Formats: sequence, structure tokens, C-alpha cells
Amino acid sequence: MKDDKIRDMNLKALAPMSDITPSNGHEPLVRVIDLKKHFPIRKGLIIRHTTGHVRAVDGINFEIARGETLGMVGESGCGKSTAGRTLLGLYPATGGETHIAGYHVQEATGDEWMAIRRQAQMIFQDPFSSLNPRWTVNAIIGEPLRVHRIIEDEAARTERVKELMALVGLDPRFINRFPHEFSGGQRQRVGIARALASEPIFLVCDEPISALDVSIQAQVINLLEDLQRQLGLTYLFIAHDLSMVRHICDRVAVMYLGIIVEMADKDDLYEKPQHPYTQALLSAVPVPDPKVARHRKRIVLEGDVPSPINPPSGCRFHTRCPIAQPHCATHVPEWREITPGHWVACHEVEPKFRP
Ligand code: SF4
Repeated sequence: MKDDKIRDMNLKALAPMSDITPSNGHEPLVRVIDLKKHFPIRKGLIIRHTTGHVRAVDGINFEIARGETLGMVGESGCGKSTAGRTLLGLYPATGGETHIAGYHVQEATGDEWMAIRRQAQMIFQDPFSSLNPRWTVNAIIGEPLRVHRIIEDEAARTERVKELMALVGLDPRFINRFPHEFSGGQRQRVGIARALASEPIFLVCDEPISALDVSIQAQVINLLEDLQRQLGLTYLFIAHDLSMVRHICDRVAVMYLGIIVEMADKDDLYEKPQHPYTQALLSAVPVPDPKVARHRKRIVLEGDVPSPINPPSGCRFHTRCPIAQPHCATHVPEWREITPGHWVACHEVEPKFRP
């Protein structure tokens, strides 16, 4: 098949990437290499000119193995949602590249681009604004089947939509209803069914539960886990709820001001966080056991998050870091593996093994 040939050629073209945080030795499905997304700031009503750039994503590297879930966490505005959209090619990248199943996302056009669009999908944060309010669920879920010419016959397409509705726990009898006739959780299920319609292998889940009622959140997480088991899906799970990320993810990447500052297996990261920023984030996560909570020290970060238009020199975290040293303001910390699979960018964290 033509698609397979292109994919093989692309896989061969991939250079060795020793500077990428590996996906625990398994075959990577997704490779992100020095990916950047800068948004220009334009001024002037008649003659528009660029006065600077918001460096939303400023050089991130990672791999995701087939069937793996990588969590991406950080405060709002740290660039994690922009990273998800840019790596899928929904935003043109300012620099760097993404490879998904061997396809070079930023260079793909025509058939290759359509193959990427089919295989890599996104689940959005707000299910209401991401669904066309004038379309029925049949039209919404059926659209990828039509666009990708997966099922041309309308009656057969409707049958497939009903199957997809059942797969995500929606009653197929509601096929002719409109988005506003569903609850928030049901609307997110419609969004998931639409994402699954093109039979993707990789999903970027952009805060898929943060707009939902707490009582519904666990149901949607369980659904995503079941679908991953049934369909062998690979996820990038973007979130700010760190306890939910621990539940669903295999590894976690922590973002601060457009870069990744720490990445590790979830248990390693939650039990032995090394970067001062990760330590501060985790110290704010509620603990169910009151005895443990009483003895836990909360790390409160001083100051505001600096502007991504002009990020601090050296270590970007130095303006808020409780253990910052003078050289932190002038030297960018190296991205180092401190224990197998645990990567940190901090001058004060020394590797504990020889790779
Ligand atoms: Fe803090 Fe310096 Fe480490 Fe940055 S490099 S996190 S400022 S100690």
C-alpha cells in the first residue's frame, strides 16, 4: 500500500535521536524533536508590525511508545495545550519536528497529511464549543467517516455511528439529537466517539475532564482507559490535575514556561520529584490521609509566572526557585538523566548513575 511505503521511507529517514527522552525502551510511536511554537505580537491598525513573540513552546523533546500514556502537566499558560496542537500539526511549528508513526508531520502534504489526520486525533477540553451546535450527533460523529472516505454509503455510515456511540457508552437511539440535548459528560463522549471514528492510533487528550463535573470526571477517565485497552491507543494526556494524571499515565512530563523541566515514570516522579518546580506542584496536591497531610510541607512559590514574551535568562525557573544559586541566572541547566528513565533540567540535581 502507498501509505505503508511512505511510512517505511519516513521511518528510515529518522536520524538517531540521542537527545530525546526515550520512551522506556519500547518502540516509539511519537517523536517530538526540539519543537517550538512562537506567536508573533502584532501592533498597528493599518500597518501591522511584529513587536515580539510569545514563546509558548520553546524546544521540547520526547518520545511516546505504542500503547503508552504520557502525561503533560504544568500551570495554566505553561504551553502544554499549544504543545499538543503543534505536535499534531494543527498549529504550524516555528521550529523542530514531530514524527507520528513515521510520518513527518511538519513536512506532510496531500495523502500523507490526510493519513496523519486520520491516525492522530485530538479530544478537546470543552466538549460544547468543540461540537457544531447545528449538527446532529449522527452528522458530527459521521463527518470523519465521510471526510476520510472510510464509509461512503450513508446508511452504512449511520450504522457505524451507532456502533461508535455504543462504544463510548451513549444510547444509539439519541443519534438524531443535537449537542445541547446532552449533559457535559455525554457531550465529551460524543467528542471521543468523533475522535475514534477515523480509527486513530494516537490521541492528544487536552484537559478532557477539566470542564466536567467532578462526579463525571472518573467516568470519562475510566472510558479512556477501557478504550486504550480495547483499541491499543497511545495517549498524550494534558492536564493540571496531578492526582488524575498519576492515575491514568505511565510517564509524566512537567512543563514550565514553554519547556519540559522534568520527566519520569509516574511513580518515580510522584515519590521522588527532583526539580524544585515539580516538588512545589506536588506539595499542593491534596492527600486523602489527614495524618500524612498534617506532616506534609507545602512549598509556596514566590512571585508570578514570568512572561513567555521575555523568559528569564539561564534557568527559566530561577526567579521563583527556593534554592536558586547565582549561576542559575546565567547558565541554562542541562537536560540530564539522573536515574534510569528520570530526566531533570536543574544545576542542583546530580545524576545518581552512569548511563
Ligand atoms: Fe532552581 Fe537553579 Fe535548579 Fe533552576 S537550575 S531549578 S534555579 S536550582
